[in-house]
Amino acid sequence: MLDGLEQAGIAGLEPRDAPGIDPALLELVHPSTLVDHVLAPMGDDERRWIDGDTVMSAGSAEAALRAAGAVCDAIDSVMAGDVDNAFCAVRPPGHHAEPGRAMGFCLFNNVAVGALYARETYGLGRIAVVDFDVHHGNGTQAAFESDGDLFYASTHQWPLYPGTGAAGETGVGNICNVPLAPGSGSRAFRRAMSETVLPALEAFRPDMILLSAGFDAHNDDPLAGLEFRTEDYGWVTAQLVRIAEGLCGGRMVSALEGGYDLQALADSVVAHVGALAGADPA
Ligand SMILES: [Zn+2]
Repeated sequence: MLDGLEQAGIAGLEPRDAPGIDPALLELVHPSTLVDHVLAPMGDDERRWIDGDTVMSAGSAEAALRAAGAVCDAIDSVMAGDVDNAFCAVRPPGHHAEPGRAMGFCLFNNVAVGALYARETYGLGRIAVVDFDVHHGNGTQAAFESDGDLFYASTHQWPLYPGTGAAGETGVGNICNVPLAPGSGSRAFRRAMSETVLPALEAFRPDMILLSAGFDAHNDDPLAGLEFRTEDYGWVTAQLVRIAEGLCGGRMVSALEGGYDLQALADSVVAHVGALAGADPA
């Protein structure tokens, strides 16, 4: 990703280091028992299994603190008017982490923490998360589903891990799930966005938009089969930028979720960040 962004030479892009979050802020979403478990000291060669997919090493806790910290720092910069929007090139991802349970490569829910941080710190009334990772963000949905001032919309392959995200899961009217069959491709993705997700987002009238930007629906990704193309990520980002400009002064912070083919990931991130920076999408 970083090599791709450097080579692309996107005008106006300003790289920054991600600071670690104050662990107390994680408790906006997660109980202290989970935070303490993830942050418990580890030996250099130790491994801690969170679930069958998710294993921590000695560097994982700091990475997780910086991942959530990046999102909050980006929110600070956007709210200060210091930048127009931001992309957080972080790992571990976050959208599978439920309030009380880390899972699926995710330790803390970076965007959910960011949403509640933005509300708490800046008094924003309504925060929306749009998630185009190939997997459903069960953790974000779980954190948001009973709070009508938070909105979560997701396109994802169905059936697929983690098994949530049926169209009938609507929370208190603030959850919008669009499951897509394997092989759906670009046209079905753009239709799902244009006809369902983006109108629901506009109707919600957010004060800030956060993105769970996973790129594992790409045709070259080994984990799933939605067969999206690199250009789709530029397209969807441009649509979201347009809506953010219309509704909330362009305030948007994007955080990386999945993406497991490194070349497809780099290319997709360049398309995404290029559109965030205002480049014309392909
Ligand atoms: Zn994913």
